[in-house]
Amino acid sequence: MSQPPSTVLVTGASGYIAGWIVKYLLEEGHTVHATVRDPNNKKSIAHLETLAAAASGTLKLFKADLLDANAFDAAMTGCDIVMHTASPFIIDGFTDANEALVRPAVEGTRNVLEAVNRCPTVTRVVLTSSVASIFGDNIDLARSGKSALTEADWNTTSTVDHNPYQFSKVAAEREAWKIHDQQSRWELVTINPGMVYGPSLTSASKSASIDTLRQMGDGRLRTGVPDLSYGVVDVREVAQAHLLAAFNPDATHRYILVNQALSMLAIAKILRNEFGSAYPFPKMRAPKIVVWALGPILGPVTRKFISRNVGHKVNFDNSRSRALGVQYRPLEETFREHFQQALDDGLVRRRG
Ligand code: NAP
Repeated sequence: MSQPPSTVLVTGASGYIAGWIVKYLLEEGHTVHATVRDPNNKKSIAHLETLAAAASGTLKLFKADLLDANAFDAAMTGCDIVMHTASPFIIDGFTDANEALVRPAVEGTRNVLEAVNRCPTVTRVVLTSSVASIFGDNIDLARSGKSALTEADWNTTSTVDHNPYQFSKVAAEREAWKIHDQQSRWELVTINPGMVYGPSLTSASKSASIDTLRQMGDGRLRTGVPDLSYGVVDVREVAQAHLLAAFNPDATHRYILVNQALSMLAIAKILRNEFGSAYPFPKMRAPKIVVWALGPILGPVTRKFISRNVGHKVNFDNSRSRALGVQYRPLEETFREHFQQALDDGLVRRRG
């Protein structure tokens, strides 16, 4: 892909997915206006400066918090494209889901898009949404009567009390389309990834992507995993999709980014094949009744979540993303490189 240089705002540039987006933009010679909450936090921005030093593009850092209504104006000045990735991706460790997830996601999207409305140079916005905006619980697929979820589907089952992260994503995406539909100057394209894996350019991210793989290797799931499936995709494909959505004038509306739906046990099997049995990767499924009894005691899951997700298959139609130009790599490569990095970064103890 080769484009005339653009000036691109990337919100949440310190994040796991955004790191790869910034890398690809800089490698293509674009100017990146990167917003972070704390530009003085060397640990979370050092990798961005290293990427910029090695690439032909230019990096400029700006400070912006999602909840600050005017924080994005300065960073957006002179930009053609806005990529809005910033949003909390946490699944536990909070007491007020509205404050921790929903308000930053929805109000943050509104603040960014209202800044776009004030910035005449911006012609396109790419929003990092999620399959969480397509569906809420795995059982939603069976209830839809379809064999695969598509971009025509919307999550109508999540609330602030049930699957608050999913609710934050669908509420934010709906807000984005509402603001987009009230004007005609800029276009909106959304990228809707499944669970993202693959090597991270930063060890500072708190993304739940990184934590779930760590649990696979540190023995927390040794006694068995729930029969839980989800859509999986490599972080590099997600980043590439943002560039395709930004620079391909034919890109429109929503793109599901899922390579394949995999169960947790299938992921554990890939990891065992790659790294051997010295690591305590789970070898069996925990019976649903056990998950139902113990899940809410051991982790941040509710019985409602378990009954609507465990044992229910999910499946996605990724044909729109492939038509856009996304080429999905084998997931063995994704998990091998991601777990290797967790070992190299000391996130999982090396064994064997
Ligand atoms: P991440 O590494 O935690 O990135 C999230 C980013 O959002 C961070 O840069 C964080 O900034 C920023 N952020 C959070 N709250 C903020 C606030 N109040 N003000 C400003 N910035 C704020 O997670 P990620 O996995 O890369 O997620 C990036 C995006 O992809 C999110 O929109 C997420 O919903 C979406 N997504 C992720 C996955 C996945 O599996 N990872 C799947 C589908 C969609 P700090 O560095 O300052 O904390």
